Amino acid sequence: MENYRPTKAIVDLQAIRDNIKNLRQYLPNSTSVIAVVKADGYGHGVLEVARTAIEAGSIMLAVATLEEAVHLRDCGITADILVMGPSPVVVAEKAAALGIHITVSDAEWLRQAVPKIGSGFSLKVHVKIDTGMGRIGLRDEKSLNDIVDVIQGTSAFSLEGAFTHFACADEEDPKKSEIQFKRFMDLVAAFPERPRLVHASNSAAALLYPEYALDAVRFGISMYGIPPSRYVETKLPFQLKRAFTLQTELAYVKLLEKGSGVGYGGTYETEQSEWIGTLPIGYADGLKRGLRNQEILIAGERMPIVGSICMDQCMVKLPRELPVGEKVTLIGREGNEEIQMEEWADRLGTIPYEIAVTIARRVPRIYH
Ligand code: PLP
Repeated sequence: MENYRPTKAIVDLQAIRDNIKNLRQYLPNSTSVIAVVKADGYGHGVLEVARTAIEAGSIMLAVATLEEAVHLRDCGITADILVMGPSPVVVAEKAAALGIHITVSDAEWLRQAVPKIGSGFSLKVHVKIDTGMGRIGLRDEKSLNDIVDVIQGTSAFSLEGAFTHFACADEEDPKKSEIQFKRFMDLVAAFPERPRLVHASNSAAALLYPEYALDAVRFGISMYGIPPSRYVETKLPFQLKRAFTLQTELAYVKLLEKGSGVGYGGTYETEQSEWIGTLPIGYADGLKRGLRNQEILIAGERMPIVGSICMDQCMVKLPRELPVGEKVTLIGREGNEEIQMEEWADRLGTIPYEIAVTIARRVPRIYH
């Protein structure tokens, strides 16, 4: 579809490529990279990111749901795909037929899945071990043995991997991650035969603890160039390159006399005669109402959003008259200034992950 509105997200695929290549160089040769592309590639556009990640040497893609995996297959992606989230048993048939790897946490799931898997197919499974996240995953050797018994008793499954997920790897104190890693390795040792792909690390652990890299790391937020936390940002082993820029243009410019209201509720009132610019982006695009007063960049200069943010538009206070059509950067770098997702996240009391996945699909992604 043709784009008429100038609001767009520019995604730098070379940055993603570089982040993966730098990580591969940093980690041991024996460690592979699984590219986490769930939630539409953290809002960057799943297909382009998936292709880029494979090209850059990732051995597998990871998503949250079977729907996301099937979408990739429908788009012609033939690489291995792991569904990391919990799946209902009904997915077994489809996943087996499409060669999609599924996460399993208990033997009963497997028993129920057996009759669903077509003859001649085997479902690829990764056993999830909960070592401290408290989400999905088995927690003891008995449950692990039960799973192994079911797998060994049928040709319906092929055991491809075992994994865990760190809850606090982005924090300064390494203790909890140490405990999780130890629990994980103890349980992995209980497999009669070590699964082909044993993996634990997310971005934070991959960057901070190369000693936990094992057979593969699941590289999510930092593949897109975003540090998992402020703490990790201070300890990066190599520079991450941010892939996402959010831009629009000044759509309208006017001089408002002193005492004029701006936006719904007139909650901003001009203190003197002021130049006000209108941007064609609003909360339906992911520019949440809580981002009022957030600054934007024009020609490297910061200026604030004023008044309440509308569904499709918002207003900014300009320092002087500026021409309609002037480029506006809401997230990204311009000259010496940069607005990062973290700045939005701080204002909204959240984390950059949530910002990345909040930019609406209505905003076209343009790839460089
Ligand atoms: N592994 C699992 C199981 C996840 O749920 C996620 C994301 O939340 C990741 C890996 C990737 O984490 P990150 O984006 O912090 O690299």
